[in-house]
Amino acid sequence: MPRSSSPILKVQFLLDGKITYINTAAAKYLQGSIETFIGKNIYTLLTPKELIDFEIQISRLNLNRPLWLTQLASSLTEKAERIKWSLHLISSLDDNVVEIQAVGRNITAWAQVSENLDLAMKIIENSVDGILVMDQQGFILMVNHAFTLMTGFGNEDLVGKPISILENNQHSAEFYGAIRKTLFEQGAWQGEIWQKRKNNETFPAWISISALSSTEQPSTHFALYLRDISTIKSMEENLSFIAFHDPLTGLPNRALFQNRLTHAIELARRNQKMVTILFLDLDMFKTVNDTFGHDKGDLLLQEIAYRLGTIIRQSDTVARMGGDEFTLLLEDGNQGSIVGAYTVAKKILQVVSWPFTIDRREIVITPSIGISIFPTDGDDVTTLLKNADLAMYRAKEMGKNNFQFFSPELNVKVHKRLDMENHLRRAQECGELSLYYQPIVNAKTQKVTAIEALLRWENPELGKVYPDEFIPIAESSGLILPMGEWVLENACIKGRALHDQGFLVKLSINLSGRQLESENFVQTIESALEVSGFNPEFLSLEITESLLMGNLEKIRKALIYLRSLGIGVSIDDFGTGYSSLNSLVVLPIDTLKIDKSFISDIANNPHNLSLVQGIISIGHNLELMVVGEGVETKEQAGLLTANACDGLQGYLFSYPLSDTAITDYLSEHF
Ligand code: C2E
Ligand code: CA
Ligand code: CA
Repeated sequence: MPRSSSPILKVQFLLDGKITYINTAAAKYLQGSIETFIGKNIYTLLTPKELIDFEIQISRLNLNRPLWLTQLASSLTEKAERIKWSLHLISSLDDNVVEIQAVGRNITAWAQVSENLDLAMKIIENSVDGILVMDQQGFILMVNHAFTLMTGFGNEDLVGKPISILENNQHSAEFYGAIRKTLFEQGAWQGEIWQKRKNNETFPAWISISALSSTEQPSTHFALYLRDISTIKSMEENLSFIAFHDPLTGLPNRALFQNRLTHAIELARRNQKMVTILFLDLDMFKTVNDTFGHDKGDLLLQEIAYRLGTIIRQSDTVARMGGDEFTLLLEDGNQGSIVGAYTVAKKILQVVSWPFTIDRREIVITPSIGISIFPTDGDDVTTLLKNADLAMYRAKEMGKNNFQFFSPELNVKVHKRLDMENHLRRAQECGELSLYYQPIVNAKTQKVTAIEALLRWENPELGKVYPDEFIPIAESSGLILPMGEWVLENACIKGRALHDQGFLVKLSINLSGRQLESENFVQTIESALEVSGFNPEFLSLEITESLLMGNLEKIRKALIYLRSLGIGVSIDDFGTGYSSLNSLVVLPIDTLKIDKSFISDIANNPHNLSLVQGIISIGHNLELMVVGEGVETKEQAGLLTANACDGLQGYLFSYPLSDTAITDYLSEHF
């Protein structure tokens, strides 16, 4: 505080105001010379109001001797500065006041500083924001009351400690580093952070840090303002939750669904994906409400919301549009979306129609579902929702409790498939499955060495369905597992019967990837062998390369075990799909079957011929037997044989033959 720099001012005057003495500083201060003031009346320098104040002060001085310190009116200066005057009474010997001495000092600077300091401290202490002051090195100098209230840290915990004591592991070291960098470069930083309390809890806080600088000195300190925004945040969250969710079920509401759908469409457009919307309306929900009351109806809606939640992926959305209408949004769909939509729709039909118990009565409620797909059924939210809704009405018209796609072609396709699946589900128990057997011959001797079991399905309604059509459905529905067991067992029984008749042929059985991956795969094969008494040395399993994409290591172990029983393993359809030579080396394989698509034009296409030659030589290098399948002409058979192919299979030798026909065939050809 540069107190010494302000000079002492001195004026002496008589009771009537006449100036008797003035020093240089005072004269200068009053903007005149000593001479001009001597003999002048000091009262003329005051405004009338100040004069009154002055007189009051003088009379008080008379009463309260010996001294009265007061401040002489500011107009004495006519400047912005303020002078603190002390008035001294100069008394006569009989104690009568004869003269007054005014001693003044310019107090502008320090009065302001001290006043400001008081004020500043009051502001700081009363601030609802937490305030922390630190020096340039980041050592804490003080915190205010609010800071302590918010964080639990008081001055005793913090003063003298580095600011890093308040950091916590909700943020990375880089995060705090970046704040420091901004502070030093720009003198300020603000943002939302997680702040820790003394008890190590954290809370969301808004922090603003700024450098404190004066005109004389650049930033020497930093002030940190801290505001606890957890209530604001939770209010915000609450508000947005209320705005975007259905209060009854807690599901996203129409607004949020539309937001998500808009977003999903944008994303799908960019990534050329599909988005599926399912629009669900409960059948006869009004009856439930009317019969049991709205409270029970509400409970039922909540239960349905819960059930719907259990069948979707995390990335999908279930929303309640109002009333008994729900929508589902399936995102990130690729070409399999139709299957996805169909699977989800089927699951909805299933879970919604589980019985509910209301008032100890079981009731079953069913849904009608409409499905629309971006981009085929619409390009924007409104159209897609409208079309899903339309499709839903069609589902109602079709007798409720079903689903309909908006697109007629899809509808036909999907429902045909669904129909087929329903029939397939009963095919096994209804005895609609049978096995055909196609011979495989030795290329050189043309003698039958093996037969391959091929599944056939004949349904009274659908007629003959070929495996290329029904195997994928069996796979996606999981039916392939019981069907595969059936094939294994029955083929082995047939194999055993043929062996008993003296036809010692090998037996090839096709396996699906789902079978290979299933838990009891090995067990299934062992049990088929046991039931039939078929010699494992004669069994060969055909697997396709694309199946080998899954859990290779587990499959490898299982196959090695089966090989140890004497069972053979063939790679089927070799050359199609993801040809991975690696799997040929890693897996315990003994036969390679060249896909029929290569064979069909080896006679005309030199390119294909050289491919086939390549496959044969790779096979032989790995000590595998090579079989060409789909051999239809003598020419093809000749080329394959000339190129050292070991086995041949195809219509040239025989079509797949029924159970009785294969026995006859072997009687003739074995
Ligand atoms: P795959 O294993 O490649 O079976 C050979 C398919 O080619 C059979 O069709 C057979 O009828 C046909 N084929 C045989 N010779 C010729 C020929 O000279 N020319 C032509 N163009 N085709 C010929 P299929 O019986 O319709 O079977 C189709 C596929 O279904 C099979 O292909 C196999 O992958 C699968 N499959 C058949 N039965 C089963 C089974 O029991 N289990 C599993 N998982 N899949 C099976
Ligand atoms: Ca096969
Ligand atoms: Ca094949």
